[in-house]
Amino acid sequence: MDPTSYDVLIIGGGLAGIRAAIAVAETNPRLKIGMVSKVYPMRSHTVSAEGGAAAVLSKDDSYDTHAFDTIKGSDYLADQDVVEAFVREAPLEVVQMEHWGCPWSRNADGTVAVRPFGGMTTWRTVFAADKSGFHMLHTVFQTSLKYDQIHRHDEAFVTKLLVENSRCVGVTAIDVRSGQMYAITAKATILATGGLGRIYAFTTNGNICTGDGMALAYRAGVPLKDMEMVQFHPTGLPFTGILITEAVRGEGGYLLNNQGERFLKRYVPNKMELGPRDIISRAMTTEFEEGRGFEGPHGKYMHLDVRHLGEATIDRRLPFMRELGREFVGIDIVKDPIPVRPVMHYMMGGVDADISGATLMKGLYAAGECANVGLNGANRLGSNSLSECLVFGAAAGRAAAEQVGSLAAAGANPIEAMLKDETKRVEGGFLDKKGGDERIAEIREDMQHSMDEGAGVYRTKEGLTELTRRLDGFRERFERIKIDDSSRVFNTELTAAIELGFMLDCAVAVAHSALAREESRGAHARRDFPERNDEKYLKHTIAHHTEAGPRLEYRDVTLGKFEPKARAY
Ligand SMILES: Cc1cc2nc3c(=O)[nH]c(=O)nc-3n(C[C@H](O)[C@H](O)[C@H](O)COP(=O)(O)OP(=O)(O)OC[C@H]3O[C@@H](n4cnc5c(N)ncnc54)[C@H](O)[C@@H]3O)c2cc1C
Repeated sequence: MDPTSYDVLIIGGGLAGIRAAIAVAETNPRLKIGMVSKVYPMRSHTVSAEGGAAAVLSKDDSYDTHAFDTIKGSDYLADQDVVEAFVREAPLEVVQMEHWGCPWSRNADGTVAVRPFGGMTTWRTVFAADKSGFHMLHTVFQTSLKYDQIHRHDEAFVTKLLVENSRCVGVTAIDVRSGQMYAITAKATILATGGLGRIYAFTTNGNICTGDGMALAYRAGVPLKDMEMVQFHPTGLPFTGILITEAVRGEGGYLLNNQGERFLKRYVPNKMELGPRDIISRAMTTEFEEGRGFEGPHGKYMHLDVRHLGEATIDRRLPFMRELGREFVGIDIVKDPIPVRPVMHYMMGGVDADISGATLMKGLYAAGECANVGLNGANRLGSNSLSECLVFGAAAGRAAAEQVGSLAAAGANPIEAMLKDETKRVEGGFLDKKGGDERIAEIREDMQHSMDEGAGVYRTKEGLTELTRRLDGFRERFERIKIDDSSRVFNTELTAAIELGFMLDCAVAVAHSALAREESRGAHARRDFPERNDEKYLKHTIAHHTEAGPRLEYRDVTLGKFEPKARAY
């Protein structure tokens, strides 16, 4: 097989990317499929997902309840047609995963177990202990191996989308092992590059979550949607930001302030620890500000207490959490409360895509966390994301497979020229660049801390304006970066520099989108505009890339049978 030309090319070897690859293979077994990942696929961030995946499986549950929970959770910014399709597909995907060998945790009678999750009215989260992502990723990875037509490019780093006559015809990538830059052409390309958590300093996201796919699409002229919607998870370990899964509260853990009080009774009295993430993160922040948090060497924190669950339950349902407590905090969660505080966790925004993953550019699709298909609105419910990767990864794979039949192969001459230009940009701009006095790590840290300060749990006009000003400065400094390592083999300094460029583009889109949305909705909480304003902002923010900064437009949300109401729990 020619490893530089495919029918469908998938960028990303996480849950969404691999699920998409399998869907292409199943839709049309004759298609040649390429799958590129900057790390070995099993190292994708999906592997660290802990809590589980949501789907309606029991006859006591209903599509309508899952849809309503998701739409209310989104603060009515979700597109209701997308949510309706999602809740119907999710159970099929979960059963498919079972058939592919995913070791879901079981009840004593052998049926698949479910656990409660935040913002869901009923128990509908399937899980594999507290290592759900690890097992799900293994399952799809193993399954993908049986398709000879899926050809992997592991440790290949995509730098640019190739666009010819407004159509995406593939990518340029660096083979990290050799340093060789090459073009991969395809009739259709699916972005499944995951999140951008690393634009913040305090995040649960792995080092590789740098928003590459969002920036690739944005630079190529595809807009980003709802980038102001950044999720803060209430329970990260102070200092490392390692996630303590919501499943800890699902299993019955309590959040306590420094008075030993379950303070959530003042904020989400009917849901308590199972309230949605945005509201609990704000409740914790308010308690900290009013002096009811614990003080530690790494700032304020709360206690997450599971001691009452007992050792047997903890070891059966939350063994990894006990390990994390031991390894990273030096406590035994059977005997000690866990210190936690809100931490950046997930990006609701992403590449503007429709229900089948199609973007506004012909030949380009997006799925998983890098995409915004309209499912999560202003706040994602925990455990909807893994299901989203399956449902919309598969949808994008099927749509791309169907589209390529009608498309001609990409021409060779422009590709050669485009590869030459991109090689010149990377070599001239980074590897062989002379001069420069700015360090990548310093700009990155300054950006991350500025994002924490300016676009955190609560936002203000002053804070966001200052953030946009600072980001302009970081972009200027980025032009003057200096790279010490000019070798070709495994040059991680080079890829870190390119990632910093991607992150800066994403951060700018977040800051500008947040500044322009003068209301509070879901995860976007403005101190200066504390109310939701449906009249003006029941709309998606659409950010277009221009040299002068993002150009923003708004698009109506697709409503359905659930009328926007005040959001109380
Ligand atoms: C700690 C943690 C726990 C979580 N727990 C849960 C949970 O319990 N339930 C839930 O529903 N959600 C959970 N989430 C969210 C969920 O795991 C993610 O949203 C989801 O796994 C993202 O999958 P993905 O396939 O979109 O991307 P990823 O798994 O992040 O994969 C991205 C892929 O893109 C590739 N890539 C990126 N850039 C490039 C480039 N430039 N060139 C080539 N390849 C590139 C990477 O190599 C990787 O293979 C959790 C997230 C975190 C961080």
